[in-house]
Amino acid sequence: MKEKLIVASGNENKIREIKNLLGHLYDICSMKEAGLSEDIQETGSTFEENALIKAQYVMDHTGYAAIADDSGLEVDALGGAPGVYSARYSGQHGNDMANNRLLLKNLENVSCPRKARYVAAIALTRPGKAPIVRRGICEGEILTYYKGTGGFGYDPLFLCELGKTFAELTMDEKNRISHRKRGIEAVLNALKVGELI
Ligand code: IMP
Repeated sequence: MKEKLIVASGNENKIREIKNLLGHLYDICSMKEAGLSEDIQETGSTFEENALIKAQYVMDHTGYAAIADDSGLEVDALGGAPGVYSARYSGQHGNDMANNRLLLKNLENVSCPRKARYVAAIALTRPGKAPIVRRGICEGEILTYYKGTGGFGYDPLFLCELGKTFAELTMDEKNRISHRKRGIEAVLNALKVGELI
């Protein structure tokens, strides 16, 4: 029987993505299925700290292995902002439109290409074992206009290595190169089972 792994997130997309990548190794469960519904406070100052806080919390409260991610956008010309504040850049948590508008305003006087990257830290906590925390990165640039209708967050402004914005990719295309996918692969490599992917 496969070991249970609780995904420390209420986001259905993330749970599906993790099932796709780790379902052959673990019995993947959502926090809800594990009886947890709280919003875990992200009090860390780095993606890695926040991912570890969430995974540790879920393991401590369920007794099962847990996996968490913390992600965001880093823009070079803004000194790495919005970074860990990506979801609440404009002050309102999860207001993608306001966040995108503020990003464009803050980059108004910066010439193209405005180099940026999506970053995801993935933390895996397992009872009695040392936690594994790895980072996945997707390099790109911030356009001066919106392009594409898919995705979420900063996706319509983020031109990726495929020459399209993340909002122009199908979910499968995005999941193949995303920062989260790369972070999860790095965790898999750390578990020395990367070849099973
Ligand atoms: P969290 O990791 O769920 O806390 O997400 C942090 C924030 O980073 C999101 O609310 C988005 O603003 C941004 N973000 C992270 N990953 C992506 C992505 O794949 N596309 C668009 N925005 C993202």
